[in-house]
Amino acid sequence: MGCMTTVDYEFDVLVVGAGHAGTEAALAAARLGAHTALLTTNLDTVGQMSCNPAIGGVGKGQIVREIDALGGAMGRAIDATGLQFRLLNRRKGPAMHSPRAQADKRAYQVEIKRLVESQENLQLRQEVVEDLITEQEGERERIRGLRVRGDAVYRAPAIILTTGTFLQALMHTGEARTPGGRAGEGTTAGISGALRRMGFRLERFKTGTPPRLSGRTIDFERTERQPGDDQPSPFSFLTDQISVEQLPCWITHTTPQVHELIRQNLARAPMYSGQIQTRGPRYCPSIEDKVVRFAEKEQHQVFLEPEGWKTHEVYVNGISTSLPRDVQDAMFRLMPGLEQAQIMRYGYAVEYDYCPPEQLQPSLETKSVGGLYFAGQINGTTGYEEAGAQGLIAGTNAVLRLRQESPLILRRDQAYIGVLIDDLVTRGVDEPYRMFTSRAEFRLLLRQDNADRRLTPLASKLGLVDAQRNARLVTKEAEVDRVGAILATQRFQGVTLAKYLRRPAIEWPDIVEIRSDLADVPREIVQQVVYDVKYSGYIFRQQQQVSRQQRLADKRIPGDLQYQEIPHLRGEARQKLHQIRPVTLDQASRISGITPADVALLLAHLEGRRRSRDRG
Ligand SMILES: Cc1cc2nc3c(=O)[nH]c(=O)nc-3n(C[C@H](O)[C@H](O)[C@H](O)COP(=O)(O)OP(=O)(O)OC[C@H]3O[C@@H](n4cnc5c(N)ncnc54)[C@H](O)[C@@H]3O)c2cc1C
Repeated sequence: MGCMTTVDYEFDVLVVGAGHAGTEAALAAARLGAHTALLTTNLDTVGQMSCNPAIGGVGKGQIVREIDALGGAMGRAIDATGLQFRLLNRRKGPAMHSPRAQADKRAYQVEIKRLVESQENLQLRQEVVEDLITEQEGERERIRGLRVRGDAVYRAPAIILTTGTFLQALMHTGEARTPGGRAGEGTTAGISGALRRMGFRLERFKTGTPPRLSGRTIDFERTERQPGDDQPSPFSFLTDQISVEQLPCWITHTTPQVHELIRQNLARAPMYSGQIQTRGPRYCPSIEDKVVRFAEKEQHQVFLEPEGWKTHEVYVNGISTSLPRDVQDAMFRLMPGLEQAQIMRYGYAVEYDYCPPEQLQPSLETKSVGGLYFAGQINGTTGYEEAGAQGLIAGTNAVLRLRQESPLILRRDQAYIGVLIDDLVTRGVDEPYRMFTSRAEFRLLLRQDNADRRLTPLASKLGLVDAQRNARLVTKEAEVDRVGAILATQRFQGVTLAKYLRRPAIEWPDIVEIRSDLADVPREIVQQVVYDVKYSGYIFRQQQQVSRQQRLADKRIPGDLQYQEIPHLRGEARQKLHQIRPVTLDQASRISGITPADVALLLAHLEGRRRSRDRG
C-alpha cells in the first residue's frame, strides 16, 4: 500500500501491545541487540493481568520456568510480587510438579514495566496502532511499518503483533454490550481491517472473567483458609529465596440455591440467549456453563484470592460469568461467607478476533507476509504463560531473521513451548488453547525443575541470557556431575550408591547417613541428582523414543514442494499438506487427518527426489 506521510521513526523490530506476549517479545528482541520499540495503547497497563492475578499452574508453571530459562521476565516478576506460592501436584511424580503463585496484581504490572523500562535497546511508547504498511516483494507481501493514531509512521523490517483480546472486542454483562477488550479499555478495529485486507482469515473466540469483591465485606470465618507452601519455591532460576510477605487464600462454594437462581436466569445469559455465539475455553467454563454441563453437582468450589497487599479487592476464582448485574448480586447472597459481600467489579465476557494459527510458520512468522509475526491471544491461545512464551520466541525469531540466521524452533521433547507452538501451527485451534501436561508426550523430560538445564545453554548461544545466568548453570551442572560421580563410584552393601538410591524405600537422607559430606549439597542439586538416578529407566526410554522420532524430524520438506505431483496421495492429504506446509516429515505426521500411509508416500517421494538430484 502506498504511503504519503513522512517517515517519523525507524526501528529494527516493532512490537504492538505490551501485554504478556508483547513485553517478552520486545525484551527478547532487545536482549539480542535489536533496536526495538514496544508500542502500546496505555503505559499504565503494561503487563496487566486481565483476569486471574496468578502465574503458573499445571502445565503453565512449567512454561514460566522455560521462559525464565530463556532469559524472560515473567519468573523474576512473579518472584518479586507473589503473595502466595504453591507447588501443585506435589504428591505426584516430578513430571507433574507445577508451580503456581498469586500475584499482587498492581505490583506485578509495575515490576514488568520496570523490567521493560530498564532494558537496553528498548523504547516503550504509548501509541495506538491503527494500520499496517506492507509492500509486494516477489510473490509474497512483506511488512514495512505501521501507522499510529495522530498520523505518525513507524518503519521496521520486522513487526510482532500481540494485541490480545482487543481486536474488534465486545464485552457482555447480561444484555449490556460495550465495545472493549478489557473493562475500562477500548477496542482495536484498524488492525483487524488491515489483516483482512492482507488476506488473513480471522475468527472469533470469547472468554470471561468473574466479579471482584470487597474483602472487607466477606465473612472469612465462614470459609476455609488455604495457606501457601511453608517454603515457597521460586519461579526464576536466579531467585534464591522468596522474601515478600505471604498471604492466605480462602475457599467457599456455590449452593443448590445458587444453581437454581442461575437456571432461572439462563435466558438472560449472553451465552444462552444467543447474544454470544462464539466458543470459549472449555476447561475454564463460566459458572452458568458449569451449572448446565454438570447438572448433577450440588456445589462448585470457589477460591477467594486477594488481588494485592494494599487493596481489599478479592478475585472470586471459579465463577467467571456474564450474567446480568442483578443476578451476580443475588448469587453471592446465597454463598457461605459471601452473604453480605459487595461487588467492586462485575464479571463479564469478551468476544474478540483471533487469527487461526495455521497461518503461521513454526517461527511464528506469518506465511503470507514476510517479517510479520503474531504472538499471544491473537493466535487463539488463552493465558499469560502461553502468551509470554510465544512472545519470547517471536521476538527472538524476528531478530534471527534480520541476521539471516535460522529461527529458534524448540522441539516437542525440548520444551512445553515447543509443544505449544507445534500444536498451534500444525493443528490449529477450535477453542481457546491452553497448556496441559497431557499435551506433552515427553513429560518426564520436560520437568519444571530442569528447564534451565534444557534451555539455558541454547539461549546462551543465541545471546538471549546474560553471563550471570549462564555462570549459575555451569556451576550447577558441575556440582550435579560431582555428586553424580560419587554416587556412581562409591559402594554400599555391595552396590553403588546410585543403585542403592534407586530402591523405592531409599531416599536422599539415607545417602547422607552413609556419606555425611553430602549433607550440605544444595536442595536443587540434590533434586537433579535424585531424579536422574530414580527415573533413569523411564528417562532412557523416553530418550529412545525421541531419537526414533528425530529421524522423521530430520527429514526436511522443501518449502516449494508441489503436493499435487506426489502420486497416489489422497486429495484430503494434499489439501491439508498444502495448507499447513509442514517443515519436517515429523510435523507432517501430526497434522490432523494425515495418516501414516500419507507420511510413507511423502517419505518415498522425498527420497526419490533426493536420489534423482544426487544422480543429476
Ligand atoms: C475478560 C477476560 C477474561 C479472561 N479470562 C481468562 C481466563 O479465564 N483464563 C486465561 O488463561 N486467560 C484469560 N484471559 C486472557 C488473558 O488475559 C490473556 O491470555 C493474556 O493476557 C494474553 O496476553 P497477550 O499478551 O496476548 O494480550 P494482552 O495481555 O491482552 O495484551 C494486549 C496488549 O495489546 C495492547 N493493544 C491492543 N491493541 C493495540 C493497538 N491497536 N495499539 C497498541 N496497543 C494495542 C493492549 O493495550 C494490551 O496491552 C482473559 C482476558 C480477558 C480480557
